[in-house]
Amino acid sequence: MMQIAVVSGKGGTGKTTLSASLAFLFKKEELVMSDCDVDAPNLHLILNPQIEESHGYVGGKKAEIDVDRCVMCDVCRQVCRFDAIYVTDHYFVDKYACEGCNACVVACPVNAIELVDEKSGDYFLSTSRSIGAPMVHALLEPGEETSGGLIAEVRKLAIAVAKKEKKEVIVIDGAPGIGCPASSSITGVTYVVIVTEPSMSGLHDLKRIVELTRQFRRDFGVVINKYDINLEKSKDIEKYCEEEGIEIIGKIPFDSDVVKANVLGKAVVEYSDGKASKAIIKIFKKLQEKLL
Ligand code: SF4
Ligand code: SF4
Repeated sequence: MMQIAVVSGKGGTGKTTLSASLAFLFKKEELVMSDCDVDAPNLHLILNPQIEESHGYVGGKKAEIDVDRCVMCDVCRQVCRFDAIYVTDHYFVDKYACEGCNACVVACPVNAIELVDEKSGDYFLSTSRSIGAPMVHALLEPGEETSGGLIAEVRKLAIAVAKKEKKEVIVIDGAPGIGCPASSSITGVTYVVIVTEPSMSGLHDLKRIVELTRQFRRDFGVVINKYDINLEKSKDIEKYCEEEGIEIIGKIPFDSDVVKANVLGKAVVEYSDGKASKAIIKIFKKLQEKLL
């Protein structure tokens, strides 16, 4: 089974544009799509999932005070280093501030506090109405931080579905950045497609995600999106890649069809056969040659 993660050093580089188009280009019989950008998922806007299975994700534990037992001694509020305990006419825990450190549980003289499972998101197995292939995706609870653990669950489910349905390819729309979510998106994959763009911070962000990908010893290549909006910066990216022995597997030109397709909730390769679509099809063929 081949897993291709599409990632970027920061959000908004065109990662999902490429992932969504790959979803249309691979045969639905061989594909499972996986959206690991759980903090700001938008692949569903294009792939239109019909949810088949839903799973709750427990990311950690939070303190909970039993007000009937509490004798309002204030000890818990004093020991909480995260200022997560408040008092009005009773004591209560701000679950967004609580780190589940257990200090208050230990300190409470009347055992009025316990740590309880805190659901921090849901993940889903769906069928994409747009491509007819399975899609695994997730949604964080409001206020929850992006979780590598939730991404790991999404990845595990995608692999299980691929094995069960004998699918050969998983395309992962990865989490942007270089933190724990990005690491969870690329660990163990066959190939990483790093999407960058010739912006002020583009090269800097690219270097950071390249470093992360190398730490995970993954095979990877670079795609420069909207390369022609700043040819000078694109040259800088190409020079860096050449010096580092990094393959550029494609350059996508600016194309207003990409925006038009996004507005209509379509992948650009579905919407038009313009210059961006042509470049993406070339990238797809290159991936096929390299990996299949
Ligand atoms: S578990 Fe830790 S962080 Fe949460 S309320 Fe208790 S002391 Fe504060
Ligand atoms: S330490 Fe226990 S008894 Fe004291 S205020 Fe907190 S919950 Fe209530």
